[in-house]
Amino acid sequence: MSITLDASQTALRAKARELANGPVSARAAEVDRSEQYPWDNVTLLKDAKLLGMTIPPAYGGQGKSWLDAVVVIEALSAACSVTGRIAVETNMGAISAIMAYGSEDQKKMAAAMVLDGDKPAICITEPEAGSDASGMTTRADRRGNRFVVNGKKHWITGGGVSRLHLIFAKVYDEKGNEEGVGGFLAIRDETQGLKIVKREPTMGLRGIPEAEIAFEDMDLPPSALVIPPRGLRKGFADLMNAYNSQRVGAATVALGIADGAYQLALDWSEEREQFGRPINEFQGLQWKLADMSIKLAAARALVYGAAKSGEGGFPDMLLAAQAKVFTSENAISVVNDALQFFGARGYSRNLPLERMARDVRMFTIGGGTAEVLRNVVAGAILKKKLPQTRDGWLKSAD
Ligand SMILES: Cc1cc2nc3c(=O)[nH]c(=O)nc-3n(C[C@H](O)[C@H](O)[C@H](O)COP(=O)(O)OP(=O)(O)OC[C@H]3O[C@@H](n4cnc5c(N)ncnc54)[C@H](O)[C@@H]3O)c2cc1C
Repeated sequence: MSITLDASQTALRAKARELANGPVSARAAEVDRSEQYPWDNVTLLKDAKLLGMTIPPAYGGQGKSWLDAVVVIEALSAACSVTGRIAVETNMGAISAIMAYGSEDQKKMAAAMVLDGDKPAICITEPEAGSDASGMTTRADRRGNRFVVNGKKHWITGGGVSRLHLIFAKVYDEKGNEEGVGGFLAIRDETQGLKIVKREPTMGLRGIPEAEIAFEDMDLPPSALVIPPRGLRKGFADLMNAYNSQRVGAATVALGIADGAYQLALDWSEEREQFGRPINEFQGLQWKLADMSIKLAAARALVYGAAKSGEGGFPDMLLAAQAKVFTSENAISVVNDALQFFGARGYSRNLPLERMARDVRMFTIGGGTAEVLRNVVAGAILKKKLPQTRDGWLKSAD
């Protein structure tokens, strides 16, 4: 499938590329080295109206499509993957779940926070419940007209910088009976009992913290509960359906990094001479460039197609999983090949290739591993309810 961008998407991409090739690219190495969240880039995105683009106009956003967001994320990620991820999580994931399922007050609050520069955190994974996320033990107990939340999440992107948190928890009635899964909204530094425990030292994507977060007798009013459309009983599947947008976003960051690395290799292959000629005159490297461009074209078609499938709702679970598996795996190989074009220079921290190689490695893991997403794909093509998918199952037996 080939998807052509319309004039407004081309203009949006040009705007994002201008930022990417200018200030975002200039700061990328320092963001990685300092491991500091790039607040300057958040301001850039905010001023350029690239934060919260997908939020409906009624709540202050622009009602942009997933594909609009994707072209922006791809362009930014080619220069700085951390900034690309900020664009993902201010347009997709937690914010999109809240805008789709939240109450009026929840939507107004979340939209205002994101448009002001907050990147919401989505809290699903626990130390003992990773791929098997439905095995979560974080619980919200009803106590009169309140919820008391206890538990622990880890590898939460933005933990320590994000203010708004969407926390997946199992809800229990007063008698201790499980009612299903809900999403609870809590705000760092405002909600008592939300504690950032520690930051993980990561291989790449170092400008954005990954944190362990504890909830200790976190006392929340009913207005903090985002009730999924089919109720708590199907809450996990519905919340994970919203998460398909973030999955497409994660695939887009991988695509952007790979495209950035490919462009660098392409230029260098003309500039660098050995044996009296540009290195792109060697067929071994020509075929490598050809393979890289094929992988990128195929990944782009899958990512854009998955984004398009979500018009008026969320991206299709099968298409999002196919896009993320293919793109994340091939992006690693494209970046690795691009690094090879530079010989020793590619291995130096003076060039961005080694950072890109560390950053891109994440995308077969976070947001559902490539293995577990293959289970999603297999379940969909076999039309079988496979329990090992991380998503809950939306289509048949549920
Ligand atoms: C940088 C980063 C950012 C993240 N951000 C967030 C976030 O913001 N919010 C959040 O909630 N989580 C986040 N995560 C967590 C991420 O979603 C989980 O790491 C992921 O779902 C895998 O869980 P796990 O690490 O516990 O691995 P495990 O589930 O322990 O898996 C270990 C290995 O076993 C394989 N495996 C497991 N089950 C199967 C199966 N049925 N078939 C085949 N293979 C299987 C996996 O593919 C993997 O290779 C992030 C992770 C990273 C690395």
